[in-house]
Amino acid sequence: MKLDLKLTGCRAITMDPARPAAHTIGIWQGRIAGLDEQVEDLPATETVDLGNAVVLPGFIDAHTHLAWNGRRTVDITGLTTVTQILDRLANAPGTGWIEASGYDRRIMDVPLTALDLDRISDGRPVYVADLSGHACVVNSVVLKQLPEITSDGWLTENEQLAARTLRLPYSLDEITTELHTSAQQVLSEGVTMCAEAGIGAGLIASSPVEAAAYQRAQLPIRVQLMVSAHVLHDATADPSDGIPRAIDLGLHTGFGDDMLSLGALKLWTDGGMMARTAALSEPYLGSDNTGRLAESEEFMRSAIIDGHHAGWQLAIHAIGDRAIDFTLDAVQEAQRQRPRADARHRIEHCGLVRSDQLSRIAALGMVPVVQPTFLYAYGDDYSEIMGETRAPWMYRGRSFLDHGITVAGSSDRPVADGAPLRAIEFMVRRRSSSGRAVGPAEAITVEEALHAYTLGSAYACRKEHVLGSLTPGKLADLVVLGDDPRTSDAIAEIPVLATMVGGAFNFQRAS
Ligand SMILES: [Zn+2]
Repeated sequence: MKLDLKLTGCRAITMDPARPAAHTIGIWQGRIAGLDEQVEDLPATETVDLGNAVVLPGFIDAHTHLAWNGRRTVDITGLTTVTQILDRLANAPGTGWIEASGYDRRIMDVPLTALDLDRISDGRPVYVADLSGHACVVNSVVLKQLPEITSDGWLTENEQLAARTLRLPYSLDEITTELHTSAQQVLSEGVTMCAEAGIGAGLIASSPVEAAAYQRAQLPIRVQLMVSAHVLHDATADPSDGIPRAIDLGLHTGFGDDMLSLGALKLWTDGGMMARTAALSEPYLGSDNTGRLAESEEFMRSAIIDGHHAGWQLAIHAIGDRAIDFTLDAVQEAQRQRPRADARHRIEHCGLVRSDQLSRIAALGMVPVVQPTFLYAYGDDYSEIMGETRAPWMYRGRSFLDHGITVAGSSDRPVADGAPLRAIEFMVRRRSSSGRAVGPAEAITVEEALHAYTLGSAYACRKEHVLGSLTPGKLADLVVLGDDPRTSDAIAEIPVLATMVGGAFNFQRAS
């Protein structure tokens, strides 16, 4: 046997307990052929000496929005006054919609309104996306097309969705370009696979046929598509199949392989903490607001139960503890009606978890897909609005693991920065960007955090048999790092030297 590639001089952390370390990795046909003495004597077409660099399985981001992340919009991140924002928007290129991103209502001296935006819009519709992804500000041109909504321009959740829908669809060409932009970015951060959290419809959709863009794009990373529950429609299957609803999406011949696959069915049960719409059982501190559920309980419950019946893995967005209660009740009912072993339903975000909910999550075999970087970026704000008692319950780590729950790492890019090493550092240190301790009792070890971003996220995507560890027979996805996260005191700063997908270095850092 002749290997395609032999990597020597590795300090590999394989994440495989059967063989936790290796110095040599043999690669053949895009897969790991063997480690150390299994491949040392084999000839190879190419041999690369990594000079004692640290090698890990490629990071898997179990929840991202690649098209949204790659969208070219006017960036207003960090701006705090209406004047600054209008100056930035005044010369927006093009003739159609003016789209901006990075708005943060919490840091504004006075919130932006439709009337403000009218001053620079020149008759064009304007859509300013809030950082949270759950709100926006639009101008009067947009509001006029939404006569049923009364607002000064600030729209959240379903009203935001109504405004968003006016802009849709993006063309497959636009989406394809956005996907390539994001793929290059994530590769430079060591990510080899992303799960796209909800295509086809709903809050972050780009087009009803957007699956075709992923197929056309042939990206240099692996992608798993989660399908929005809103695209389920009545299906005329035989009643004995137990599949009342199914999807279309623009799928066509040739869809699906190691690089592109279909993942979970994505549902939303509440909003987010940033927009104060995550559904809580007790109000946000200093207010009587308890957030809100995303849709009618009837819609959400039937989507969960029908999706479960039809064989989907469910990826249920639930941030507040009340949304998590709802989710657990509905999944429990679905499992009662039709028990499915290893359904492996996911809770996306799983942001505020009461202690009594931990054993229920474990008993239902559900997987929290967490975004540690939310707390690095927004932990100060979230701690304030949750208050002393609840702040330690946010985006847990230790308690999940202690209950035997598998934790999956993810970013929700572009809602928060997507770099896995930043997230891993947070999971270990539990410090926000200002240095504030956020739920320090939930800290986990570096090895456990690495597990969350490799085998844990592979498990959430049902890919642990082919991804997540450097094990002979698995796909050759790996990341080469400038230092060992287990001994580094600045994990987030460790340089990503190269990223390999399927045996090919699709990213190499300029030296
Ligand atoms: Zn998301």
